[in-house]
Amino acid sequence: MPIRVLPPDIAAKIAAGEVIERPASVVKELVENAIDAGASQIGVDIVQGGKRLMRVSDDGVGIAADEVEVAFERHATSKLSSAEELYHIRTLGFRGEALASIAAVSHLTLSTCTRKALAGVTLRLEGGQIVQRSAQARPPGTTVQVENLFYNTPARLRFLSSDPTEAGHIGRLISSYALAYPELRLRLQHNDRQMLRTNGTGSLQDVVLALYGLDVAQEMLPVDAPAREPNGIAVDGLVAAPSVHRSNRNDIVLFVNRRWIQDQTLSFAIREAYRTLLPQGRFPIVILNIRIDPEQVDVNIHPTKREVRFRDPRLAFAAVQRAVRATLQAQYPVPVSLVPGTSTAAWRRDGASRVVSVYTPAQHEMPLSPGVTPQTQHQPASPDATAPTERLPMLRVVGQIAQTYIVAEGPGGMYLIDQHAAHERIRYEALRAQRAALNVPGQELLEPIVLDVTPQQAALLEEHAAELANYAFDIAPFGPSTVLIKRIPASLAGYDLVAALLELLDAAVEGGDGFSWEDQALFTVACHSAVRAGQTLSILEMRDLIRQLEATALPHTCPHGRPTMVHLSATQLEREFGRH
Ligand code: ADP
Ligand code: MG
Repeated sequence: MPIRVLPPDIAAKIAAGEVIERPASVVKELVENAIDAGASQIGVDIVQGGKRLMRVSDDGVGIAADEVEVAFERHATSKLSSAEELYHIRTLGFRGEALASIAAVSHLTLSTCTRKALAGVTLRLEGGQIVQRSAQARPPGTTVQVENLFYNTPARLRFLSSDPTEAGHIGRLISSYALAYPELRLRLQHNDRQMLRTNGTGSLQDVVLALYGLDVAQEMLPVDAPAREPNGIAVDGLVAAPSVHRSNRNDIVLFVNRRWIQDQTLSFAIREAYRTLLPQGRFPIVILNIRIDPEQVDVNIHPTKREVRFRDPRLAFAAVQRAVRATLQAQYPVPVSLVPGTSTAAWRRDGASRVVSVYTPAQHEMPLSPGVTPQTQHQPASPDATAPTERLPMLRVVGQIAQTYIVAEGPGGMYLIDQHAAHERIRYEALRAQRAALNVPGQELLEPIVLDVTPQQAALLEEHAAELANYAFDIAPFGPSTVLIKRIPASLAGYDLVAALLELLDAAVEGGDGFSWEDQALFTVACHSAVRAGQTLSILEMRDLIRQLEATALPHTCPHGRPTMVHLSATQLEREFGRH
């Protein structure tokens, strides 16, 4: 369809005011345009949280040379031609306002070429006025570059947050589109650092793996729901097993016909489906797309299109709740309404051949040095009921090799355990539980550590002070580029504290590869408070470590998803030695 300016009567029916309030709003509109243009690859580059520059490139259909100017008129769209069509919209955009609104408050350069055209066009606008047009060879597709957002509206400029915060909003947005469109190859780069990338295989599992890592990906259950309910609604996606959960609802990601939406009611339906399965105050990871006849949902009610109105909200609520509940019920053989604490055995999942231990962790004979305290609490609440446990068999420590691996013998043969990965898993689960209970043990430093930081790092430390305090850190500003570290998580005592803090600051700047900053903090503190490779351990220390590993919920991988151990079965050994 050609791009046309909508007649006033149709324009008047459109929920007014495309809101460009921050860099992420710009990226959202540009990415939606690229998806509507049928792109299979979209690259997003941002500089300084998008405030300095945002560039979105796609390989979609492009814009015809004689329509480039009209695309920047208000209410100019190729996606709508009659008022009637407003009631069954299948594209993400339809108001014809975004390009005009963005161009008005920035320096914008659009370069585009259709598949048939011999040459493309580049158009440059400043404050909405066209200042330059040129012909240019380029591959089919469109690139829109937006610089100096809000340069002419200082009031809006002042409302923007720090670069990492703005970049974080953009990261979350791109992650959501990646989840909604697994067939898209999406890339996001911030100041030359890659924040995320998906490979466009079409598999939602692959996207989850890229965004959340193996630990989460392997705990996600495919939604078990009828292809289409009698009422025409279909729900698909992935829901997390109750063993993984989050401190906020950011990872409940909902789409309606692949449009990313916010919906309190549906979010509530999901939490109802998880009722009693998650510890108090924790939220699941859920990625759901609701497919529904476009006529049954009004997408034209909200300025940013983040909210939609279902013609019959009860049907959507019921479909979502049923889908999530059925999935959890089918894949966790326990009545979903069960009260925590009444069943432990039922929580073990079928399928995987897991060894069930006869060994019960006893009191610890001796703490692991340095600074290791016995583990008393491994799960946030009612440990047995909230997490599926995979048990290790009873292992006898034989010795240590390369000051890195523990050699152990078990009923099934020989085990090589990576001491760092194993201890990291132990630290991670303990810390996560302590953090959930707001009870991370701290250690006051007799002599505060003076740390030199950049002004940006100082600002980050201040911005995240509350969260750092939850991890028992007490860090106070001390001059413009120095901070005083007065208290630290007790588990970090004796470890390289400064390295841990610098890594945390990096994570805050990079927006966390799809992880919340809180999770990053957890990973970092766990990793830095774990014994290193290259450290000699006594037999007692190794025994203690294995006992603690045995008591974790997921002993087979470290929090990053690397294996903690390699198993050589008795049969494998016999085969290697030609015994049969
Ligand atoms: P809308 O998306 O609501 O139609 P926009 O202002 O975002 O309004 O875009 C105006 C028009 O410009 C679109 O209808 C589309 O025809 C064209 N357009 C914008 N971005 C692209 C793109 N990346 N590829 C192809 N066409 C585009
Ligand atoms: Mg648009």
